[in-house]
Amino acid sequence: MALGNQAKMVDISGALTALEPLGADQYCIAFGPGATQFCGTPKGYSTTQLPRKVVNDLLSGNIKKVLHASFGNNANSYFFTYEMRDGTIAHRAGSGIPAGLRFFVDRISSASKERASSLRVQLGASRSYVAWSNSRWISRGIPESLLAVLYHLSSPDFDEANGSQGLLMSGTIDNIAWHDSSSWYFKSGSAHEELRTSMEIIKNAWYSLMHANLAYVAIDPHSPTGGTFAFVEKTQDGREPNFVLRCEPEDTVSRLHSKQDPPSVHTQVINVPKKSEGLLMFQWAVSKYTGCSHARDTWELELKKGERVKVLKYMGNDWFFVENRRNEHGWVHKSWLDFQQMTPHVDPRKAYARFTVDVEKMFKAGNIRMFPVLNLYMNACTKDTCSPLKTDPHYLGICHHDLHELMRGSGDYSLDTLKTERNKWHPDRFARFCHPHHRETLREKAQALFVLFGVLMEKTPAPEPAA
Ligand SMILES: [Zn+2]
Repeated sequence: MALGNQAKMVDISGALTALEPLGADQYCIAFGPGATQFCGTPKGYSTTQLPRKVVNDLLSGNIKKVLHASFGNNANSYFFTYEMRDGTIAHRAGSGIPAGLRFFVDRISSASKERASSLRVQLGASRSYVAWSNSRWISRGIPESLLAVLYHLSSPDFDEANGSQGLLMSGTIDNIAWHDSSSWYFKSGSAHEELRTSMEIIKNAWYSLMHANLAYVAIDPHSPTGGTFAFVEKTQDGREPNFVLRCEPEDTVSRLHSKQDPPSVHTQVINVPKKSEGLLMFQWAVSKYTGCSHARDTWELELKKGERVKVLKYMGNDWFFVENRRNEHGWVHKSWLDFQQMTPHVDPRKAYARFTVDVEKMFKAGNIRMFPVLNLYMNACTKDTCSPLKTDPHYLGICHHDLHELMRGSGDYSLDTLKTERNKWHPDRFARFCHPHHRETLREKAQALFVLFGVLMEKTPAPEPAA
């Protein structure tokens, strides 16, 4: 896979060829302003243009691999991470990176070799960035709903003196990418992987690949409309990996050789099935028939009549992504599945218990800066009609069906319970617990949740008055 032209001006093609390619299923695709690109893959490297200092680094012959690269909003804002020939990790930061980031980089670099080695920096447009080292992260200017996920996965005791930062409660960040507020991608081990986008072209790309088999995602933060991206699957059976990529305004380019006939996609839920502290999202279904609904395609899962399977995700057009008892994954058509009662995916009691504890803690701590990430508690609804709402990066991430499932977990689903719960989110009450800087945006979120409770209350009959 090659992105764009080879290097021009100083010929560094020799230096790039002399580098050791990245390992299997490892990628580093960085988009900069204009036509700037850097691409590292298991097959080698390519670039359109690079900062002078990076060119010199490459020409020095001391670099073994380029592990990570990203470009900020000007020619001097960039950050590269190298594996050197002597096995150490080194970084090259441009002089134009934002001051807060520079502070973090200097602090981590001087802390210890081990911490410096784990340092990674993702730059975006408008001087936005996320930097992390082991579990510690810092960010600026990233989409609100992406920041909310970072906070959600982080220890609640953090110091906000130097912008938004925190400590992940477990693991580290594997990959993070965003474009203004239209799209973002986040992956932290098996704890959390999520893509949110309001762009059809990115949804289509996402749904044409197997997420369980995804190796890498890149979103160009600098492209005019947010439509430049790359999704790459892991290599399977020694074949070239599937990928979908696009450099706007060009057409999408893809290789999808394991899926001759991928179902076309309209609008649907974009959250990936994910584990979040033990809350695995899925629903059970039973196969009605033996075999496959279509001529044997590698992307379709073969089932036995009566076999119980986990339905991990709705893929659009009546197709589902399913896991069988042998942990094999594949697509299954709706006509083959009996959902019985569309049983919910997370145990609502566990989800509700965790939600209640988290919310209580949040109110107790006060100075609320982030709204709870509601779809981490319940993400049950896969209705096409709810998808636009649920994937809107500015909304709550859940619909009233999800809230209904969550509230069912209280064990006492009644008008009274709903009313009590709703009152917690009264926008005026909620605003009093918020940090002044975030009060207005948080008030709007509380208002939206308050309304959602109202929807459920309208559907719930009042108890019969006592005779
Ligand atoms: Zn819904």
